[in-house]
Amino acid sequence: MNQNWRGAVVRRLLLLLGGCLLLGLITGQYAWALVIGLGAYLGWTLTQLLRLHKWLQEHKPDEPPPDGYGLWGEVFDSIYHLQRRDQKVRGRLQAVIDRVQESTAALRDAVIMLDSDGNLEWWNRAAETLLGLKTPQDSGQPITNLVRHPRFKEYFEQGNYREPLDLPSPISDRLRLQFLITRYGNREHLMLVRDVTRLYQLEQMRKDFVANVSHELRTPLTVIAGYLETLVDNVEDVNPRWLRALQQMQQQAGRMQNLLNDLLLLAKLEATDYPSDSQPVAVDLLLLSIKNDAQALSGERNHRITLEADPHLRLKGSETELRSAFSNLVFNAVKYTPSEGEIRIRWWGDDQGAHLAVQDSGIGIEAKHLPRLTERFYRVDSSRASNTGGTGLGLAIVKHVLIRHRARLDISSTLGKGSIFTCHFPAQQVVKR
Ligand code: ADP
Repeated sequence: MNQNWRGAVVRRLLLLLGGCLLLGLITGQYAWALVIGLGAYLGWTLTQLLRLHKWLQEHKPDEPPPDGYGLWGEVFDSIYHLQRRDQKVRGRLQAVIDRVQESTAALRDAVIMLDSDGNLEWWNRAAETLLGLKTPQDSGQPITNLVRHPRFKEYFEQGNYREPLDLPSPISDRLRLQFLITRYGNREHLMLVRDVTRLYQLEQMRKDFVANVSHELRTPLTVIAGYLETLVDNVEDVNPRWLRALQQMQQQAGRMQNLLNDLLLLAKLEATDYPSDSQPVAVDLLLLSIKNDAQALSGERNHRITLEADPHLRLKGSETELRSAFSNLVFNAVKYTPSEGEIRIRWWGDDQGAHLAVQDSGIGIEAKHLPRLTERFYRVDSSRASNTGGTGLGLAIVKHVLIRHRARLDISSTLGKGSIFTCHFPAQQVVKR
């Protein structure tokens, strides 16, 4: 209430009291005059209040307030202006919301808003075509009930959304979708889902092509390698001058066979998400046999290879796959460590899970190569690789096997001093004896 209205009210009250006093003077009944005057004022105020209440109750958007007298008229007008202003702001906000909804509805990618518990709050039309969500039945449902793939549940619950997840659509196996989740606000989730079927098919074609070529080349190569072996064994009967050439041919045929085997293994690893067998593997025994093979590979180069392995820790997974991953790491250590060098293999567990470290005192790797080391055919130095007979696929195989066992690879290295390759397995993959 501003100063003017306060004055006016006080004046009006004084006037009323004056009127009551005058009536009292005329009739001689002061008390009754005061009661009648104040009662009339109260009655009028209550009538105004009831009119205001009725107007607010039955109010239509553009209906002006009833005429009021004095301060009540001012109150009616102020409420009316406030309402009008509120309506305009609401109208503008609604227009923005409508535009956002229209544009997201036109998107071909699905946009889904989930609350902090993963329950559906809002989605656009593409979410209905890609994921089969139904309006309004699915509102408030947990997303993991609607996208039932076990990998999605795992991805959603573990909360690390740095990498997107590719999965078949819940409504059709032929549709391949990419899920990308971002956290916002009060731990709510914004989920974007893209149709990546074409990309997936191209990728599939590439994998099939490599797998088929490798498979087709295997038989002719086996024949060539077989005859080469016979020729080398009986070179005296042919022409001894050919011995060197035949030996080199045999060596290169061997390399090609290794390459094809690695390519086929990679193709097999890529074909499924997880290994089909998932028995607890006795890693300590596995490492012991790899250590013996490594000692044999080292031969006259006489590396000092040590093994410290916790026999109580077993790993859920495929023994064949784990053998090929671990032996790649250990054989690399032998290949890239000069004679008499030291190689240390450790297998231990802690709160976070289990870990395997292969440490060598070898030539080391420059830091700039580390992020790309697990790419196929990536070599730090191509001349060095051809000396060692490597295929350039070893670490790619390691990476794939680890992903399939929910593990990750950590590489640290100092040029000239040596390297440590560590595999970290989460606790869910470990079985304690
Ligand atoms: P390759 O068959 O050539 O060994 P990998 O994929 O196993 O292929 O390794 C990729 C490259 O990483 C190798 O060419 C080598 O340069 C480097 N590398 C791997 N392990 C080691 C190691 N223990 N010490 C030094 N360099 C290594």
